[in-house]
Amino acid sequence: MDSKDFRKHAHELVDWMADYFEQVEQYPVKSQVKPKEIYNQLPVHAPQEGEDMETIFKDFKEIIIPGITHWQHPKFLAYFPANTSFPSILGEMLTATLGSQCMIWDTSPAAAELEERIMNWIKELIGIPLDFEGVIQDTASTATLTAIITAREQSSDYNINDNGIEKNNLRVYCSSEAHSSVEKAVKIMGLGRKSLVKVNTDKGLSMCPIDLEKSILQDINNGEKPICVIAAIGTTGTTSIDPLEEISLICSKYNIWLHVDAAYAGSALMLPEYQWMIRGIERADSFVFNAHKWLFTNFDCSVYFIKDKEALIRTFEVLPEYLKTKSRGLVNDYRDWGVPLGRRFRALKLWFVLRNYGVKGIQEKLRFHIKLAKQFTEWIVDSDDFELLIPTKLNLVCFRYKPSNINDEDALSRLNETIMNNLNNDGSIYLTHTKIHDQYTLRVCIGQTYVKEHHVYESWLLISEMARKTILH
Ligand SMILES: *Cc1c(COP(=O)(O)O)cnc(C)c1O
Repeated sequence: MDSKDFRKHAHELVDWMADYFEQVEQYPVKSQVKPKEIYNQLPVHAPQEGEDMETIFKDFKEIIIPGITHWQHPKFLAYFPANTSFPSILGEMLTATLGSQCMIWDTSPAAAELEERIMNWIKELIGIPLDFEGVIQDTASTATLTAIITAREQSSDYNINDNGIEKNNLRVYCSSEAHSSVEKAVKIMGLGRKSLVKVNTDKGLSMCPIDLEKSILQDINNGEKPICVIAAIGTTGTTSIDPLEEISLICSKYNIWLHVDAAYAGSALMLPEYQWMIRGIERADSFVFNAHKWLFTNFDCSVYFIKDKEALIRTFEVLPEYLKTKSRGLVNDYRDWGVPLGRRFRALKLWFVLRNYGVKGIQEKLRFHIKLAKQFTEWIVDSDDFELLIPTKLNLVCFRYKPSNINDEDALSRLNETIMNNLNNDGSIYLTHTKIHDQYTLRVCIGQTYVKEHHVYESWLLISEMARKTILH
């Protein structure tokens, strides 16, 4: 392919991309294919001879698209959204075109400096104290791993990096509602699952600070060494919010690293009315939120802030001869700020999004989603046979169908699971579930970039119809 062919195909693809957004509602939200259906349509061996773009693109449309779940469908209500947006896609196209490897300042100064500037913008926008510094990570999972490793090094006076773990008495704390990435991190780090203490939550599924302090004291008395607490601002199951102020005071008292996982709800900090969620942040050590969830920036783009930049760099820096440069020390070499050496130019798409929407445009969208979720919540509360299972905090609604003649908990769980599967197999909407106090809970998260009021209303009608239809069978 030469640049002339590239130009032609690129124009065709951009047309397809614009059409996709205009026509995305024609697809079933959740892919309806069976296991191996896509795999078996693909040739066993790679082609020996090059193929033309027409053929490849035809296969993309005919083989790949049926196996896609449409995360950009406005009736995608499952998990948390992984939004994209037009400015984000445009930025990503340029990132792919430049193909820059942004591991150190020298390998693309603009990438490093744009990232530094944008992290400062976001710091201001979401109310992170000025003494924190930001860096973009691929995912929140990586950011949390980075945080706990830094905590480990700082607490061992950087000894474990040199000598390995001599005595594994290290302890990490999170609530029983924390994201699975915390458990994954302690496994990867070689601390083992036994090092992770899962603290009880209250009725609203927020961490109990009293139980946290009790666990810490008990561990210290038993000769264990608490190194890190992870507080969740917006849990994945229900967007519950751990009481950061109280947790941060406990961490200060015992000198324990406090990492804040706001992977999803962090976007809402751009709204002054949600700043209360991070009261106490000045006593935290690190913080992560995913721009690739609810900030209209396509995956991957995770924003990580850390108070003690030197602790981070001291933990992760390895300086082989081939990476030594003259600019060292004068600029940010982000390869030292996390796990991978190589880094994509992720700041570009985020810059496009922040500039094209503007702060006001983003705030408007977030408030709109929150308003739609409030409306949906009211429909649930006002109906006779649906039950809200936890107060709606942001744009995630947790509920179940509970007709008055069914009281058996197991029967209700089975019924709600069936309703959800029927809805997802129908293809018009896509939702997922969680468990709240052992009750099977339907989750509807209203945060897709281009969702409108009528999408939410139609989804509610469908859910209530399907529920009543399911019980008749
Ligand atoms: C989504 C989520 C994560 C994981 O995010 P990745 O970027 O996919 O690693 C971590 N914590 C919470 C609370 C989340 O909602």
